[in-house]
Amino acid sequence: MKDRYLDFVNSPFGTSIARSLGLPRPEVLRRHRADQAEFGGMAAIGAGPSPTLFDALLGVLATIGMTGVAHESAYGWLPAAARHGVMSGRFEPRSGDAHAVDRVQALIFDATGIEHSSQLHSLYAFFHDALRSLAKNGRIVVIGRPPATCASVAAATAQHALEGMTRSLGKEARNGITSNLLRVAEGADIDAALRFFLSPRSAYVSGQVVTIDAPSTSPESWTKPLAGRRALVTGAARGIGAAISAVLAEHGAIVTGLDVEAVRGALDQTMLAIEDAAPSAGAHAALVADIAAPEAPSQIAAALAASGGIDIVVHNAGITRDKTIARMSGEMWDSVIDVNLLAQERIDEALLEAHVLRDGGRIVAVSSIAGIAGNRGQTNYATSKAGVIGRVRAMAPVLRARGVTINAVAPGFIETHMTARMPFGLREAGRRLNSMGQGGLPVDVAETVAWLASPGSAGITGNVVRVCGQSLIGA
Ligand code: NAD
Repeated sequence: MKDRYLDFVNSPFGTSIARSLGLPRPEVLRRHRADQAEFGGMAAIGAGPSPTLFDALLGVLATIGMTGVAHESAYGWLPAAARHGVMSGRFEPRSGDAHAVDRVQALIFDATGIEHSSQLHSLYAFFHDALRSLAKNGRIVVIGRPPATCASVAAATAQHALEGMTRSLGKEARNGITSNLLRVAEGADIDAALRFFLSPRSAYVSGQVVTIDAPSTSPESWTKPLAGRRALVTGAARGIGAAISAVLAEHGAIVTGLDVEAVRGALDQTMLAIEDAAPSAGAHAALVADIAAPEAPSQIAAALAASGGIDIVVHNAGITRDKTIARMSGEMWDSVIDVNLLAQERIDEALLEAHVLRDGGRIVAVSSIAGIAGNRGQTNYATSKAGVIGRVRAMAPVLRARGVTINAVAPGFIETHMTARMPFGLREAGRRLNSMGQGGLPVDVAETVAWLASPGSAGITGNVVRVCGQSLIGA
């Protein structure tokens, strides 16, 4: 559904009306486009004492073509850049002219060496100087350590404090700027996560905390990181599932899109369009099944085994049957729990037991911010989506031995059939009450799923990443 307010206030006429009336003007988010460079420009680098990731950061920035410039807090950056033989310089904070073009595209802060809350002042020093120099649609990435891995209570305390800082920056920055925290354990790789959070692909992901606790390998190609992988996407006929299928295919995966008989025509259309956009010599396939049917797990496992197994499972299919609990029928409760939660459990069990999901595979489940915050009239839905989060967290350690990761994405307000059916007032509230001042698009969820499904995300498991523009709901 079109967001007419966003279009209006960003039109030439609407911009002046919005200015004169003092109306909020949400930024048109910059998303990935094949005909535009994904990265470029400068990233200002700040750091606390004894930063540990300068070499890794220099490596990533060099491969994506961004230049890191050192704030005075980033002591040791310039010698490290010289060692790597890459161009660098000192960061000069912007002053005065609001239209100056000397803005940086990203602010990156290495907080991994912070071991005591007295050292948090370095964050203040950097962001106080640098925030106003960040361009529209810019990126803030703070990198710390998982508190649970810290050697002292003082260090764990200070590392946890980074969360409040990162989230507040997301709320202050506006202008389509995102702010996220990566908690990187010693020996873990930041490449895939840093690329994602610096790129336009993470346009609607802000205020998130992601833990990376194991090493990973870089994909052979960053433009087709899923080349040669096979993926199953449930609920693929339309909305978020269709976007996930398209983005996985664009990243090189061979996709089986699954949906119910009632939408067979739409599913076929979706898969044909994907074949046109990302040809697979006819290997993208449509699979008709009701995931809640008792025979579905064995039927799906057999179909996927016949094509040699799979590497990625995306549990996207979901339904709502909204009513306050006193008015809700038992059937409404049962069907939502069955489709949104129990079906995922049964399908994973079948795929894992028969090794149809190969070792080193990826499971990504679509939850919802309703599963975090709860929602009036959605006890069944919120219960199912909170269950998805619980399952991801509990399964992650179990699947580690097989190198399988399992994560959840929790969309906020995404412009789809589901949200177009909401009453006007609720729909407008969902759209505006987030740091981006607008709803997300299915592609925003899809890009996040594709990142979690990539080989470079081997070190990310048991995480829940909200794709909600930093929604105030469930904050
Ligand atoms: P949608 O209704 O547009 O699409 C859901 C798809 O799942 C449909 O094609 C439907 O046919 C399919 N499906 C439903 N039951 C099925 C079953 N039993 N077996 C197989 N397929 C089935 O919904 P959407 O907005 O694209 O949502 C996709 C997922 O994202 C859902 O899990 C939803 O709960 C979640 N989500 C959406 C939003 C949002 O704002 N749209 C927000 C949070 C979470």
